[in-house]
This record gives sequence, structure tokens and C-alpha cells, in this order.
Amino acid sequence: MHIHQLDPQKHETFLTQARIDPITGDTLVVGDKIVLCAECKSAFHSDSWAYLGNQHCNQTRTLPAIPQSTSLGHFKKRSAEYYSRVNSNFKINETLQNLNLVSAGHRLGAVLIDLTLIGLIYYMVSETLSPLLWTYFLLRDFTYKGRSFSIGKNLMSFEVVEEQSENKLTWWQSVLRNAPIGIPQLASVFSAYAYNFSYSFGNSFRVADNLLSAIFTIILIIDVILIFGNNKRIMDRAMDLKSIFKTRNRRNN
Ligand SMILES: [Zn+2]
Repeated sequence: MHIHQLDPQKHETFLTQARIDPITGDTLVVGDKIVLCAECKSAFHSDSWAYLGNQHCNQTRTLPAIPQSTSLGHFKKRSAEYYSRVNSNFKINETLQNLNLVSAGHRLGAVLIDLTLIGLIYYMVSETLSPLLWTYFLLRDFTYKGRSFSIGKNLMSFEVVEEQSENKLTWWQSVLRNAPIGIPQLASVFSAYAYNFSYSFGNSFRVADNLLSAIFTIILIIDVILIFGNNKRIMDRAMDLKSIFKTRNRRNN
């Protein structure tokens, strides 16, 4: 195998071609140790040549000298090898990220725990607590001192964060995210109060409440389908959120 160290005088012509290593995508510069495939005349960093198993074009021969002039042609472009390597790294990263995503069963489990607790308190303690209980539900993804309000999510040790930054949610993000279940419930509580206030006010409130409930019920049905399609729920999609296990977050901090 012939390795050449690029010299500013000796390899001036070659250096002006600003060749790109097909594997790393880096431009070959003065001081680089390079190897040239005897078959296709492509230039590689010696490390890239080793990475290829000391072979290219199904052969191991290398050029004993750097040619004084070669056509630039495809050497200037990043090769298919470069893109397939970058692409496979990308796929590995993507797989690692997906491993940290929370499964449909966990997510459904967490929301069922929260809803069951709300139901238990409602029936066993007092119905008058329901405005408070549904307000809690709306705020369940709000994180205070590193812990979200959701008891179900804490038990399952995951949390909802922003997709890119992995920032924890503010109170209004939590309210918006949980609106499909929480708002119709809260609205129906207040429509009962509205009837006490005046019948016509209560009636119009109920109409608005029913409309709201209908829209959110449709969202919920689609959400359940999306969760099991291992996809993002509508609100997560709209707000660019994801559910991740807390362990990795702690490691990052
Ligand atoms: Zn070759």
C-alpha cells in the first residue's frame, strides 16, 4: 500500500483540485496522509482507506505516485459511499431516540391512572371538588421542581417535553395539551352553575359545551388510533411535544 503525505510544493496541482475524501466528505489538505485507488484513481485519507478494509473497486492496489493531472470529474462530488455512511449513522441515532420514547401502553396507562384517581376522589370525597379535579387534570403535564403533576406519569417515570429542546412544559402548554379531555369536563361543571344563574344562559352554555365536547370527542377517537399507530397524538403533533422516559433527561442535566 502506498501512502502519500500531501506536500504544498510536490502536490501543488493535486491540492488545487481540492479533492474530497469519499468517506468523510472532508477536503484533502496539506499534511493529510492519502491513498489512491489504482483502479478508479479516487483519493482517500489513509484512515478512510483502512475503514474500507484497504480496498476499493474490489481490489487492493494503490497508486505508487500521485498523478500530476487527473480529470476532476466525479471526484469533486461526495460519493454514494459518503451518503450511505452518513445515512446509516443517522438511522442509528434515530433508533436510539426511538428507544427512549414511551410506548402506547405506558401512555394510556398513565392517563387511566390519572382519570381513575379523579373519579375516585369525585365519588368518594365530594362532587363539589370536580372543578378542582379537572383543573388538576389540565395541569397534569406542568412540571414543578422536576416533577410533573401527573401521578400516572410519575409512576410510569416518563414525562412530556418539547420535541426539539426537550424543555419541560409550562402551565399553559399543559392546559392546551390536556384540553381535549379536560375542557369539556370543566365546561359541563360550569354549565350546571350557569343554569342556576339563569335558564337561558345555562341553555346557551350547554349548546356551546355540547359542540365543544363533540369536537374534542372526535379528537380523542383519532388520538386513541394514533397512539396505537405509535404516532403522535393530535395535540402533541400540533404543539410539537413528545413523551420520553425521565432517566435520560436526568442524565442529560
Ligand atoms: Zn476505486
